[in-house]
Amino acid sequence: MRAWQTHRMTPPVLVVAAAIVDDLDEPRVLLAARRAVPASLAGRWEFPGGKVDAGETPEAALHRELREELGVRVALGDELVGPDEGAWRLTEQYEMRLWLAEIVDGVAEALVEHDDVRWLPEGQWLDVPWLDADVRIVQALVSRVGDV
Ligand code: C5P
Repeated sequence: MRAWQTHRMTPPVLVVAAAIVDDLDEPRVLLAARRAVPASLAGRWEFPGGKVDAGETPEAALHRELREELGVRVALGDELVGPDEGAWRLTEQYEMRLWLAEIVDGVAEALVEHDDVRWLPEGQWLDVPWLDADVRIVQALVSRVGDV
């Protein structure tokens, strides 16, 4: 049983996000998006994505968010399974599921809640100030895809 169940707390809200890479089979370059809002998170980098709406599957939500936020269509690869029943606990309020993804249509640009997108070359995936909650996920991703 999970802590929020045993302590009668509100279940975490599911956020879905993508580790967009240049090539699903041999990832070398990773896309990071810089948040413009809210003020408390502005300037920090994250995996693009967002909350799952009621009645929506996580995968459908992720496709919708990437279309809205970056103007791209993607193909999803493997999920990077997190330590908390598959998800990654971000904060008390949010947990996240994350998939590898590759762009199949469009050029990623900051359209809505971001003000910059950057393709991080191999060896530099940890070189931007990620959101605190995303740092260990980037570390896990680096281990998962090999010595980038
Ligand atoms: O993007 P949105 O504001 O819907 O995300 C909800 C919350 O999830 C953010 O306030 C942030 O704390 C967290 N988040 C995160 N890492 C991401 C995406 C969202 O920590 N890659």
